[in-house]
Amino acid sequence: MSTFSCPSFNQHELVAFKEDSKTGLKAIIAVHNTNLGPSLGGCRMYPYLNDDLALNDVLRLSLGMTYKSALAGLPLGGGKSVIIGNPNTEKSTELLLAMGEFIDSLGGKYISAEDSGTCVSDLKTMGRKTKYVAGVCDNQKYGGDPSPYTAYGVYCGILSALKHKRGTDSLKGVRIALQGAGSVGRHLIDMLVKNGATVFVSDVNKANLEKATALGAQIVDNNSIISLDVDVFTPCAMGGVINDDTVDLIRAEIIAGAANNQLAASEHGERLRQRGILYAPDFVINAGGIIDVHYQRVGATTQESETKTKEIGATLAEIFKRADSEKMTTASIAEKLAEEIFMNPETQLIKAAS
Ligand code: NAD
Repeated sequence: MSTFSCPSFNQHELVAFKEDSKTGLKAIIAVHNTNLGPSLGGCRMYPYLNDDLALNDVLRLSLGMTYKSALAGLPLGGGKSVIIGNPNTEKSTELLLAMGEFIDSLGGKYISAEDSGTCVSDLKTMGRKTKYVAGVCDNQKYGGDPSPYTAYGVYCGILSALKHKRGTDSLKGVRIALQGAGSVGRHLIDMLVKNGATVFVSDVNKANLEKATALGAQIVDNNSIISLDVDVFTPCAMGGVINDDTVDLIRAEIIAGAANNQLAASEHGERLRQRGILYAPDFVINAGGIIDVHYQRVGATTQESETKTKEIGATLAEIFKRADSEKMTTASIAEKLAEEIFMNPETQLIKAAS
């Protein structure tokens, strides 16, 4: 498949490929749009079954980053990179250094951060060859890990959704079904429980479930979490959870979670709208991580990351209002708003200066 005929190609500014036989590195960097600033996005390492799947993924993910950063009000464009390989068996220092050189060869058009299959220490290794890595600050409260901010953004998003639906954002007595007690899920459970919510949790990892119960969550079966009789469904594991098989099983009136690409297809967003379920678009509600990575990069304080992340609640409130009045899905409204921002960068500059 050529890049242009790839289903996820969407006027990307740059797509770069690298194969290095010495280290085994096979990687792709995609820069979708840099109207608002240099592109920033994670480096994913995954054993893709073939190159086409890797290309499609990096094109789709980089586009998503343009939308995410625009709506988060960051001076950043959208980019992403993928390393084709198994992170558990094929990662080596040499490979990561070669990836650093690859990132550096783009001269700052793409700045990398961690993603599935890579971690802060991998980024630090890449950083020996390039200054274009982010989210690696040791002096931060969480050692560079952005997941507490992602969790805080989701928390603010849940409050915003409750306020829109019920006129109050009190968590007292609110029942929440959370799938995925990983880095983000656990920080979120902690905040939700401490503020009065009852949290049900499911995961495929036993150790993570134990940590979740220690935080006050109650374990439920992973197959039934999506159809639980709760107020909020909070996906924090993998993408595509809302699909043909699950969309009509959901009983929660709100879906608000951290997982990327929660809707298997856009028509599932429309189905949720018709059923009166309020969906917080994933690329808006989970922007706390990218906000923190950006603020770490510019040397801001953790307090500034927190303040900016809190704004996610207000952005979602605006999206929910517009979706109601225009009778459109929240995801389409969010995309429209993001396009209004990144397609008109001059307007944003004027706003920032005034
Ligand atoms: P993580 O890998 O730390 O945690 C994911 C958890 O989900 C793990 O406990 C895993 O066992 C569980 N899981 C995996 N497959 C599952 C399944 N089929 N059913 C139930 N549980 C399953 O990841 P994370 O950093 O907590 O991120 C969670 C989600 O949020 C991901 O989709 C990620 O892409 C997205 N996200 C994360 C960040 C961040 O800052 N970490 C930022 C934006 C978006």
